Amino acid sequence: MLLSLLVALVPAAWPAPDATLHAPQLPSTPAHKIRVFVDAGHGAPDNEGNHGCSCQAEQDHTLRVAQHLAFVLAATGRFEVKLSRTTDFPRYQARIAAAEAWRADVIISLHSDARGEAHGFPGADGGTCWRNPDAPGIAVLWNDEGPAFSAREKLGRAVGTRLREAGFPAYSGIDYGDLYRHDDHEPSGWIDTRPMKKRVYFLRASAIPTVIIETHHALDVLEVARWEELATVDAFAFAVGAAVLDDQGVVK
Ligand SMILES: [Zn+2]
Repeated sequence: MLLSLLVALVPAAWPAPDATLHAPQLPSTPAHKIRVFVDAGHGAPDNEGNHGCSCQAEQDHTLRVAQHLAFVLAATGRFEVKLSRTTDFPRYQARIAAAEAWRADVIISLHSDARGEAHGFPGADGGTCWRNPDAPGIAVLWNDEGPAFSAREKLGRAVGTRLREAGFPAYSGIDYGDLYRHDDHEPSGWIDTRPMKKRVYFLRASAIPTVIIETHHALDVLEVARWEELATVDAFAFAVGAAVLDDQGVVK
């Protein structure tokens, strides 16, 4: 209730107000279907991910958005889609193995960030939830290692570009510090260049072009409310679909 009230008071700057505007970018006569492995980040043993401004778990957000993304992509007729998890809790290694065995063309892994200095609020169950309105936006992450680098970079830039075109603002990166290097091409793009042992496993575990999308800032009340709206997950799904077509060089 409170979230809806806050959103009603703030102009709807994003995403694009009518997600169906993006639908024509996804024609329905496939030359061949592109295989998209959609990973709902976290939801692994002892790995729920972050807890957001209402103490909501990242693993629940990623599963909801992943399922919607998979549904929309499959419905276009252009993609075959496989989810990394539904009701089970597979380890990340098993997910990569599943993507490789399935011969995925790309891997899209969904996450959210919990950024910066937060302040506490009483949660519904009597505990404390944390909020910070100062670091909104999307971030697209990829890894710069080996011969697969250019393919990851191409996919990452396509995803970031399409998401921004759909109205999703790029995160400034102010709280990333030296975690990632900012891409010099795509404002929402961030490259994992840390020492090998500290790098994000999912971004470097296979030669399949892989990106992580940090969909929003989970401590930001307004962004979290936006992601509860169907228009947001629709716009997101169409933008990701268009980006994969761009990446695969599909002539629209
Ligand atoms: Zn995460």
